[in-house]
Amino acid sequence: MVTILDGKKCSEKRLELLREEIEDSGLYPRLATVIVGNDPASQMYVRMKHRACEQVGIGSVGIELPSGATTESILDAVRRLNADSDINGILVQLPLPKGVDTERIIDAISPAKDVDGYHPENMGLLFSGKPRFSSCTPTGIMTLLAEYKIPVAGKRAVIAGRSIDVGRPMAALLLNADATVTICHSRTKDIAEELKRADILISAVGKAHFITPGMVKPGAVVIDVGINQLDGKLVGDVDFAAVSTVASAITPVPGGVGPMTIATLMENTYRAAKEQACGSAG
Ligand code: NAD
Repeated sequence: MVTILDGKKCSEKRLELLREEIEDSGLYPRLATVIVGNDPASQMYVRMKHRACEQVGIGSVGIELPSGATTESILDAVRRLNADSDINGILVQLPLPKGVDTERIIDAISPAKDVDGYHPENMGLLFSGKPRFSSCTPTGIMTLLAEYKIPVAGKRAVIAGRSIDVGRPMAALLLNADATVTICHSRTKDIAEELKRADILISAVGKAHFITPGMVKPGAVVIDVGINQLDGKLVGDVDFAAVSTVASAITPVPGGVGPMTIATLMENTYRAAKEQACGSAG
């Protein structure tokens, strides 16, 4: 029998614990989101993040810039938020419109407020085994594995996808947890062969039904990060029904990794607020 890794339930539990912790702390953390343009998926993700803030007692500020916003104008908004002592965490919703220099924007976010963990300083800390803010999706996946007591140390983990928001930080987190890690990507030769060796398989490719049962070792744990539209329905990268017959545990889409990403963002924002409060207290 396959175990369904219920990210929705786990995230609700984490959010409730966090709500209590924030209430007891006497702090009022604040998250600023920056969204550029009117991509419906990005707007929906930002709305969900604001809703989660409300649920746990984090204040949120939404900066909305038009789709024609220049790199300089986005940088201006980020610099203003960096300088605003009322803001503890800054999240720039990706992807940014074509023509915007995303790397410059990420590099401009104060590392102490970079609750998404994309800044090179935070990435470097993560890869050196001393994470401060590690990016929300992979961190949420590690939390979900821990919740279900899935051992990671000594296991062979194979990741499909090498993006800075998922694949790369996922590899660092798994390595920090003593897994043996392989990262596959669009130029990997015979990806099925690589994936088939995984005890823990993580797919972050963005292609519906990319992972088929023939790519999965019997008994593997399968984590589906992908969010895709197929015939008007939201699906992951994994052919869920077919792979469920082979895997020992699997995340559904929706209700798997997505809610864990949001819970982790809330946890990172609270952590930023605590660290900034300690810093300002000397
Ligand atoms: P991305 O486009 O930045 O990266 C995709 C990766 O897939 C690349 O590294 C590429 O090399 C690899 N790839 C593409 N085609 C491949 C192939 N044929 N074989 C092997 N590798 C291939 O995307 P991303 O930001 O990492 O997101 C990936 C997916 O995860 C998307 O569907 C995205 O919507 C979703 N996502 C979900 C969450 C969540 O919270 N659930 C968070 C972030 C991203």
